[in-house]
Amino acid sequence: MSNILTLQEYEAIAASLTFPSMSFIDGAFRPAKSGKIFATTNPATGQHLTDIAACGPEDVDFAVAKARQAFDDGRWSKLHPNERKEILINLSKLVKRNRHELAVMESLDSGKPISDCENIDVDEFIHLMNWHAELGDKIYDQTAPVGPDAVSMIVREPVGVVGAVLPWNFPLLMLVWKIAPALAAGCTMVVKPAAQTSLTALRIAELAAEAGLPKGVLNIVTGSGAQVGEPIGLHQDVDMVTFTGSTSTGRRFLRYSADSNMKKVVLELGGKNPCIVLDDAEDIDYVAQQVCAAAFWNMGENCSAGSRLIVQSGIKDKLLERVKVHARSWKVGNPLDPQNALGAMVDKAHFSKVESYLTKGKEAGYTLVTGGESIDGTYIQPTIFDGVQNSDELAQDEIFGPILSVITVNSFDEALSVANDTDYGLAASVFTANTKKALRAAQAIKAGTVTVNCFGEGDATTPFGGYKQSGFGGRDNSIHAHDQYTELKTIWIDLNDTTVDGSID
Ligand code: NAP
Ligand code: MG
Repeated sequence: MSNILTLQEYEAIAASLTFPSMSFIDGAFRPAKSGKIFATTNPATGQHLTDIAACGPEDVDFAVAKARQAFDDGRWSKLHPNERKEILINLSKLVKRNRHELAVMESLDSGKPISDCENIDVDEFIHLMNWHAELGDKIYDQTAPVGPDAVSMIVREPVGVVGAVLPWNFPLLMLVWKIAPALAAGCTMVVKPAAQTSLTALRIAELAAEAGLPKGVLNIVTGSGAQVGEPIGLHQDVDMVTFTGSTSTGRRFLRYSADSNMKKVVLELGGKNPCIVLDDAEDIDYVAQQVCAAAFWNMGENCSAGSRLIVQSGIKDKLLERVKVHARSWKVGNPLDPQNALGAMVDKAHFSKVESYLTKGKEAGYTLVTGGESIDGTYIQPTIFDGVQNSDELAQDEIFGPILSVITVNSFDEALSVANDTDYGLAASVFTANTKKALRAAQAIKAGTVTVNCFGEGDATTPFGGYKQSGFGGRDNSIHAHDQYTELKTIWIDLNDTTVDGSID
């Protein structure tokens, strides 16, 4: 908690902030060519924060042209890897220097609790930027075993101009997941933040320029999915798109690619993640704590949220008793107050969607273990419904709110089969004292990340992404993220003697 300030200090920072309001293209803040703007508000208070450039296809064209120029003239891609590393590490240092300002900006724009913004979003930004910056000059190319008459090199080249389209649930974190490996690989970028949460991406672009990132390398184009996201997806001169968001929008990016230049597409999509607790799980209080973290962290606005608790009948009552106690300890309210663990839902539309599941849960007659209410049209209490069937809407829909569905099973095999009975496959957790069962579950569950006796998403070193309809084409984080921003090229050199007299000069 060492980075955490007091509510009064955060309020003072909030009062002194100036918000960026224009897109950032070719090293400068610019209004939309159309002059259009849209409002961004603080979802906790309804306060109007600023008006932001509502860009359109013409701004995307301009940004892509500048990113293309920056890529082709080699101002970034052909810099010595050491120099790229140094600039990205400078950016990380500037983020550290401005950490409180960025954390407050993130919290005001998204409704996220300030202690998470400080300890997770900003801290992870700093760490991941450093990690990928350091990786860039430590990956070696290869030679292939092609015999004595040739040398064949397999080299990596940056993929080119990368479009990144981002969600609103972790604005800074999703930004760094994309830009750190892509920039470290030598790519240039056109990034579209989610309309609800554009502010910190704009501030990061400004800090990147201060850190020495050349003009045109990192461009941030603000606006809607239809006006900015789709033109990026369909652009003939974008070499790759990396997208994080809903499965339905992800599907569109595959179509955009097919309908344009067959650009490479990497998708990180939704989840309806199982949290399995077997009868032999140890330390029930700790398990309950982890179950709550899985379900309620970031207001449940988390693709890897453990929103289905699949619990074996023998341990269920004991576990739910403890889960209820922990759920009630998650304080909800003012996101700027470091005591609060849940802040505001990101906007009114999303609030209403999540609230409708509270109504559905009550109407379906499930047992309400705790919560069940919304507060001030802004917040949703951590809520647990027991008695849900896995085929029910609550267990199949990605609600993206702090609502946990409890599904009771009678055996290990049933737990696995229920866990896999979903279109998604992003993450899963299993709690058991039996190592064989833990490993069998980890093998059997079709998900990109399986955590044992804890909830988590791995770290910088481990790939993150989804099986089934939770992902496509690659992984964020780890050395594998770097791979996806590079193309492999084979360079084959013939060593056979081709001179007339048979000599090699
Ligand atoms: P979303 O509605 O799919 O939006 C994501 C981004 O796509 C936004 O920038 C959005 O623009 C843009 N977009 C919307 N419609 C588009 C279109 N027709 N063409 C091109 N772009 C378009 O998702 P969200 O509600 O922001 O985010 C929540 C989702 O993200 C959840 O499903 C969650 O599971 C997923 N997520 C996944 C991961 C992961 O790593 N797997 C991580 C975090 C979140 P606007 O500005 O107009 O909204
Ligand atoms: Mg906002």
